[in-house]
Amino acid sequence: MTTPRLEIDLAKIHHNARFLVKLLGRNGITVSAVTKAVLGLPSVARELLRAGVSGLADSRLENIQTMRHAKITAPITLIRSPMISQSVQVVKDTDISLNTELDVISELSKAAQALGRTHGVLLMVELGDLREGIMPADLENVVRRTLSFPNITLKGIGTNLACRCGVAPDEANMAELSELANAIDATFGSVLSIVSGGNSSNLNWILGGSDTGRINNLRLGEAILLGCEPLHRQPFEGLHTDAITLVAEVIESKIKPSQPWGNIEETAFGAAIPPHNSGSISQTILAVGHMDTDPEGLTPPTGIRILGSSSDHLIVDSRRDRLPIGAELTFQLNYSALIRATASPFVTKNVFSEKKVLVH
Ligand SMILES: *Cc1c(COP(=O)(O)O)cnc(C)c1O
Repeated sequence: MTTPRLEIDLAKIHHNARFLVKLLGRNGITVSAVTKAVLGLPSVARELLRAGVSGLADSRLENIQTMRHAKITAPITLIRSPMISQSVQVVKDTDISLNTELDVISELSKAAQALGRTHGVLLMVELGDLREGIMPADLENVVRRTLSFPNITLKGIGTNLACRCGVAPDEANMAELSELANAIDATFGSVLSIVSGGNSSNLNWILGGSDTGRINNLRLGEAILLGCEPLHRQPFEGLHTDAITLVAEVIESKIKPSQPWGNIEETAFGAAIPPHNSGSISQTILAVGHMDTDPEGLTPPTGIRILGSSSDHLIVDSRRDRLPIGAELTFQLNYSALIRATASPFVTKNVFSEKKVLVH
């Protein structure tokens, strides 16, 4: 099999999704499975639907089109504000989009009228993380205008935290979202069916046992695919953290000094002088680098220590063992390493379930 490659275990992804669907179901919360980190891979999307998620969600229209071309007809939400230049395609390929700008909603309305369809809009509210969102004081006015657009259905409101500034979802900001939902429904008469509380970083808040109020949906990517919550990058109990791994191949294996020699200047990716002299080491080079993934986000197997990386190389200390040329090593990935690897043209994807290879 070619390397570097991602090993994508559908059975483990299924387990993670099912676990979270059940956990959140107890609180009356549905799961929209976010597929952007696997580029909308249809085999993964289908597995997520089999695991009971209520719909799919992706930030990229291209990924959504990949799923539509694969005949996936489940509801799909576009979770990045649509580009006006893509409004026709957004209405064609998605059921709902997350929105913050009336100019965009206006274009979606025109596109929907031209296509003879209706398009669902979920308005995103800014609650402190300073990424996308309508300021709470402006929400009522935006709702009023949204309700007036032909062929647009207001589906709900939502928020997104912990992505730009690391603002954690907590009792206070989640209660504020619920109160905003109640206020909108009181003014306009039960117009909001979805209140989408956030992403994988909301799981700690759920486990904390606070009142979930009006929140009835979460959009989950990282927790399903990597079994982690993003706030502390800790494994989430009950979930597999190795549903997706990265396999790379050894191309050089030599005993070398641990310290470089010559005049030391900057390197392409910043200074990387080994911290201390540990004499001679088993230095191994794997054919994977910044062009393939985020090397900082890789966790090596036990007994292996990552020493450095460049565009095309990952340099590791394999301790006592000299690794044979051609040997494969399997790494765990964090979110950054995963999205870079899935988007890299140099990394193949091996999707399997219970050891049976399904797709290359
Ligand atoms: C990526 C994204 C998500 C999913 O985030 P995870 O941390 O992977 O669960 C949810 N909502 C929005 C708006 C996103 O962009």
